Amino acid sequence: MARYDQLGTRNGRTVSEPGLRQASGNNLDPWYGAYAARTAGLAASEVRALFAVASRPEVVSLAGGMPFVSALPEDLVTDAMNRVMREQGPVALQYGSGQGVQKLREQTLEVMALEGIEGSASDVVITTGSQHALELFSKLFIDPGDVVIAEGPSYVTAMVIFKSYQAEVDHVPMDNEGLIPEALREHIARLKADGKTIKFLYTIPTFHNPAGVTLSEARRSEILQIARENDILVLEDNPYGLLYFDQKPPAALRSLESDGVVYLGTFSKTLAPGFRVGWALAPHAIREKLILANEAAILCPSSFSQLVISQYLEQADWKAQINTFRGVYQERKETMLSALGEYLPDLTWTDPTGGFYVWLTLPERLDSKAMLPRAVKELVAYTPGTAFYADGDGRRNMRLSFCYPTPESIRVGIRRLASVINGELDL
Ligand code: PMP
Repeated sequence: MARYDQLGTRNGRTVSEPGLRQASGNNLDPWYGAYAARTAGLAASEVRALFAVASRPEVVSLAGGMPFVSALPEDLVTDAMNRVMREQGPVALQYGSGQGVQKLREQTLEVMALEGIEGSASDVVITTGSQHALELFSKLFIDPGDVVIAEGPSYVTAMVIFKSYQAEVDHVPMDNEGLIPEALREHIARLKADGKTIKFLYTIPTFHNPAGVTLSEARRSEILQIARENDILVLEDNPYGLLYFDQKPPAALRSLESDGVVYLGTFSKTLAPGFRVGWALAPHAIREKLILANEAAILCPSSFSQLVISQYLEQADWKAQINTFRGVYQERKETMLSALGEYLPDLTWTDPTGGFYVWLTLPERLDSKAMLPRAVKELVAYTPGTAFYADGDGRRNMRLSFCYPTPESIRVGIRRLASVINGELDL
C-alpha cells in the first residue's frame, strides 16, 4: 500500500501534482503530460487558426466542405419532423437499438441500390455520420503500429482517426483514373517486406475528397483483386457517389464484392449533415462487432434524427431533391473550372465529374501552406494540400471546394487566388 508520509511525497519520493509532471516550458496546458500517447495527432493546426479568420463574411472560402443545405426546402424537413412528433413522439425521444432503426436500415438499401449495391438490412449499422463509422471501424481493427493504406492525398479527418489509433498511414498515389493498381501492388510488397501489418485499405473511389477524381471501372475490379490476393480488407467511403454531374459513376466497390468490403454511406450530402446520420454495410461478423462498438460508444444513434430521415424518405421526393443538389453543384463546378481557365490558364487541376472538390497543382516553387496567410489577407481561403497527407507531402497542391459559395463568389474567389499566385510568382 502507498504510504504518504508528508504532503507531496509518496513512499519518501517527491511527487508533483497530477498532470504537471511533463508540462513543458512552452506548453501552457497543465495536463500536457497526462494525455494518452494516441492523442498526439489531435493538435490543432495553424491552418485551423487561419480558418477562423477565413470564416469572416468578406473572405471567399473555398476551404470547407459544407453542403449547400439552403437548396433543401425547409418544409420538406419540418413536415417530416412534425409528423414524427405527432405519430411517434415517445419513440423519437427515447433510446433505441444500437444497430439503428430497422425501417431506416431498410431504406438505406434503396439508397445503396442506386449505386448497384445489394445487401440485407440486418447487415446495416446506423452511425452518427460516416465519420463515426470511421472511428468505430478503426477502433475495431487498428493496433498501434498497424498500417492503413490510403490514397495520397486522402480525407483529412479519416487520417486523424487512424493516427489517433496509432496507425501508420501509407499513401498510394492516384492519377486521373484514381488509385493506381500497380502502385498499390508495389506498396503492399514493400510493406510486407518490411514486416508491417497492413490492416485495411481506406478508399474514396468516387468523387474523391480531396482529389476530385473517380476510380475507373476497370480499376475497380483490379483493386479488389489485389486486396483479395493479399487478404486486405477494403473500407469504401462513399459520401458523394449520388452527386454526379452528367454521368453516373461506375458502380460501388461493394457492388462487386461483399465479403471483403465494408461500405460507408451517409445522409450528410444527399440530405443534411446536421442530422448526423450515416451507416455501415458490413459482412456479418464485422457488423456484429460494429454494433457492440456503437453501443459502447454512444448506446444508440439519435432516435429522433433517424425517424425524421426515415419519414422524409417515405414522404418526400428525395431522388428529386438529390437531382436539385446535383444541379447546384454542377453549376458551381463549371463556374470554378471556367474561372480557373480564365485566371490561371497555366496551372493544372482535376475536373471532377461529381462531388465537391477540385485539386489544384501549383508551379514547382510555390508552397500552398506558406501562401495561405497571404491568400487570407487577400480575402480568399483554400485548404493546403499538406492537410491531406499524413507525411507532409502536398505542398504544391491545394483543395478548392465549390460546394458552398455561390457561383458569383467562386469567380471572385478564383480571381483573388490568381492574384495571390501570380504575386508569389513575381516575387
Ligand atoms: N468521409 C469523407 C470522404 C467525407 O468527405 C466526409 C465529410 N466531409 C465524411 C466521411 C464524414 O461525413 P459525415 O460524418 O457527415 O457522414
